[in-house]
Amino acid sequence: MKKILNYIGGELLEPVSGAYLDNYEPATGNVYAQIPNSDSGDIALAVERAEKVQLDWANTPRQKRSDILLKIAQLIDENHEQLAEAESRDNGKPIKLAIRVDIPRASANFRFFATAILHESSDLHESDQEAINLTLRTPIGIVGCISPWNLPLYLFTWKIVPALAAGNCVIAKPSEMTPMTAFLLSKLCIEAGLPAGVLNIVHGTGAKAGHAIVERPEIGAISFTGGTETGKKIIKLAGPMFKKLSLELGGKNPNIIFDDCDFEQALNTSIHSSFANQGQICLCGSRIFVQKGIYDRFKAAFVEKTKSLSVGPPHLPETKVGALVSKPHMEKVLGYIDLAKEEGGQLLAGGKQVVPDAPYDKGYYVAPTIFEGLTPDCRTNQEEIFGPVVTLTPFETEEEVLNMANGTDYGLSATVWTTNLDRATRVSKSLNSGIVWVNTWLFRDLRTAFGGVKQSGLGREGGWHALDFFTEKKNVCIKL
Ligand code: NDP
Repeated sequence: MKKILNYIGGELLEPVSGAYLDNYEPATGNVYAQIPNSDSGDIALAVERAEKVQLDWANTPRQKRSDILLKIAQLIDENHEQLAEAESRDNGKPIKLAIRVDIPRASANFRFFATAILHESSDLHESDQEAINLTLRTPIGIVGCISPWNLPLYLFTWKIVPALAAGNCVIAKPSEMTPMTAFLLSKLCIEAGLPAGVLNIVHGTGAKAGHAIVERPEIGAISFTGGTETGKKIIKLAGPMFKKLSLELGGKNPNIIFDDCDFEQALNTSIHSSFANQGQICLCGSRIFVQKGIYDRFKAAFVEKTKSLSVGPPHLPETKVGALVSKPHMEKVLGYIDLAKEEGGQLLAGGKQVVPDAPYDKGYYVAPTIFEGLTPDCRTNQEEIFGPVVTLTPFETEEEVLNMANGTDYGLSATVWTTNLDRATRVSKSLNSGIVWVNTWLFRDLRTAFGGVKQSGLGREGGWHALDFFTEKKNVCIKL
């Protein structure tokens, strides 16, 4: 049985309480590792270790900080295969996806922010020749980073690296369901010579370890990615302490397909935007709106392609849809499939659990599922399912589809398929979301602002936005 350890003060440590949790392998439903059930005692230790080195790290020349972070990127690349296998086993995602997307993106996150800090500049404002105003940026001190299970190392590094690059010490908690690659990363950080105490990775549940990070007064900022309900709890706890907050929350994203789209591109990309990572990406387009002129043709082709996706054990190269992350999550997704039927939805594909041959027959597999005939305001079309379930809805006019697309509490991302540039611009401006993709999906330039509106979040990550978040601006006014 593998044993995961906390990474605190540069050492791999048992949890203070000595208590462990089971870590399940989604492909088989078996327990395959033990994870520290950390609590406020472990967070207190991490804070104590971070406090000791915080000023040293903040004053470390940026070239040196950059070099260490680049060394970690290199080690991630050198251990690419092992990390991809660990990610696929821990999360249930197809190994191909972990190899192609998750692990390369983790090292890209390190490279991006490690080099960004070498090109930073400060603002200077001349005030009518009487004074100059110089804007200094200083690290916050100790910050907390809490990440979810769907893109484990990818999102974990997206948070911790800008925080470290900006000169902060970090106390980070990966999801209790997918701790393995963060644990492997802690070993790479030791190998790369990251000074002890600068990054502390504490494993355990949100209720204990996550809560303890948010409530510690020494931790000045919280960067969180996860569900909207957890985001609300964090605001309640951290708000009165005036902590800086960056919250990347849930989505219920529209995928809008106009008659004049490039049909094949819209079709093929919609398969990915619906079912990639088993539909467990906050940016998946789970509400598909298709204009009436191509609705029947699109529906027939989309259903056929969906039915041909191979569902099964994540380590097989032919697998397109792997296992969902946990049994409770699979049961939640199957519950939404029942709800969609109760709400009058017609099932076009999937709609059931898939049971592969032993030893994978206890794994958490759900067939990619399509419903049509549901109203825009029903629960299936309003609540985040976070699984391989999408709805198809026809529309006639731009106004009609914009009303439906904007008609949820969420506003993370949207996708628009059209070859009419005027329409693309007009519709993009009217969509109430933080991110709009036109004729593509999940195309990411790490310099751009990333985040949602309404209940999809608060603040923006990416590029300078992330480095701004992890620093405080101080204006120094000098009379001439
Ligand atoms: P959760 O909100 O359940 O958990 C996210 C993280 O927060 C986990 O590490 C969790 O710990 C921890 N946590 C839970 N409760 C607390 C608490 N009270 N205080 C502090 N930390 C806590 O989300 P999921 O892990 O289920 O992830 C799925 C969600 O993430 C979806 O809603 C998805 O849309 C969203 N997401 C958003 C993205 C974005 O960029 N906007 C990107 C990816 C996902 P534990 O280990 O116990 O779960």
